[in-house]
Amino acid sequence: MPLFLTSEEIAFQNKIREFAKKIVQPRAKKIDQNGEFPYDILEEFKKIDIFKINIPKKYGGLELGFVYLCIIMEEISKFCASSSLILQVQETASQVIKIAGSEEQKERFLPKIGTGDIMLAFALTEPKSGSDAQSIRSSAKKVDGGYILNGTKCFVSNGNVADYFVTFAKIKEEGNEKITCFLVPKKSKGLRMGVIRDKMGLRGSITTEFFMKDVFVDESLRIGKEGMGFLIALSTLDRTRPMIGAQAVGIAGGAFDYALKYSQKRIQFGKPILHHEGVGFMLADMITKIEAARLLVYKAARLIDKETKEGKLRFSKKATMYSAMSKMFASETATEVTSSAVQILGGYGYMRDFILERYMRDAKVTQIYEGTNQIQRYVIMNIMKDLKNHLLEE
Ligand SMILES: Cc1cc2nc3c(=O)[nH]c(=O)nc-3n(C[C@H](O)[C@H](O)[C@H](O)COP(=O)(O)OP(=O)(O)OC[C@H]3O[C@@H](n4cnc5c(N)ncnc54)[C@H](O)[C@@H]3O)c2cc1C
Repeated sequence: MPLFLTSEEIAFQNKIREFAKKIVQPRAKKIDQNGEFPYDILEEFKKIDIFKINIPKKYGGLELGFVYLCIIMEEISKFCASSSLILQVQETASQVIKIAGSEEQKERFLPKIGTGDIMLAFALTEPKSGSDAQSIRSSAKKVDGGYILNGTKCFVSNGNVADYFVTFAKIKEEGNEKITCFLVPKKSKGLRMGVIRDKMGLRGSITTEFFMKDVFVDESLRIGKEGMGFLIALSTLDRTRPMIGAQAVGIAGGAFDYALKYSQKRIQFGKPILHHEGVGFMLADMITKIEAARLLVYKAARLIDKETKEGKLRFSKKATMYSAMSKMFASETATEVTSSAVQILGGYGYMRDFILERYMRDAKVTQIYEGTNQIQRYVIMNIMKDLKNHLLEE
């Protein structure tokens, strides 16, 4: 296993970096200021086949895996985390089809997901069920040819662009509650979008709620077997968490680059502020933590790629632990680094004409979504119960 990136991956990184600088950077400020979903960036993503990255070749994809996805997340997030979330959502939601869909569902959906002709959203969270995802209240009742779904989902990222929602509901039968995964067409009768939430950060990503009132879902749109939904959700999030880690590394990296340049030029007490230890040491801590976070993120992504090739639905404890550690550490790093970057700019850091306050606002959510960091600590704690020493086997 390469320790870091291979030469092919570095070449790809350079390509995406150029794309991000040319296409994403000039738009980032306006996207945040206006709270507008970047439809133009979505179109540009399609042109460079971003949604094909992790689609198997058999279904028209590039089959490049999670290391490549993390490279994109990192590079785009250096300029605009709202834009990178478009890929995150498409990947998280399409994972359920990749890991648990039937052959027919894969053939029907994956090629169009790859081209972006079908956009997805992932709707697990409910008003009364966030971290405790098993306590969802949405229900599915079996009827002739399908299911009738009722319930409310909230905090659905990019619900505005989704053609289908991946969602989870409980089938209640003989005292058993079977969480089951469904793909619900947006045009379904009885499906209604709720208010669009106003947010602290990630203002270019549209976060909405949606209500299901007697929504009929055809049997062909149930993903996996009845009762497999929770396992599918966990297995999906295990895979996609390092992408949030990569998003956090990108946000932290973008903020660091800006603060570094500023500290090299800003003169106080007769010399650049970087030369004052109080500032220089802050930057030293920042770059060290960013690099440590990057190593964790790419190690987690590589482990996931390896285990995906081995055809596993549930990962080894090692991969699950790295996935949780990478998301947790990278998001803590991003929150800390972006706050330090604002500090380095002094009063200017607090002003909206400088970009760093946006990075600070965007970083915060990486500690919350895709499982809060408290929940990541639970995942790690539970695996540690069987751990013999601090070295995870290579
Ligand atoms: C911008 C944004 C976009 C999102 N996008 C999506 C999306 O696309 N799809 C989706 O399904 N969800 C999405 N979410 C929801 C997100 O995943 C949840 O907010 C998150 O899982 C936490 O759930 P909650 O908000 O209900 O908090 P709660 O679960 O109520 O938690 C509240 C606090 O208590 C802590 N806590 C809870 N249980 C424990 C425990 N056992 N031990 C210690 N601490 C605990 C939590 O860590 C948190 O700090 C999004 C959220 C945001 C903010």
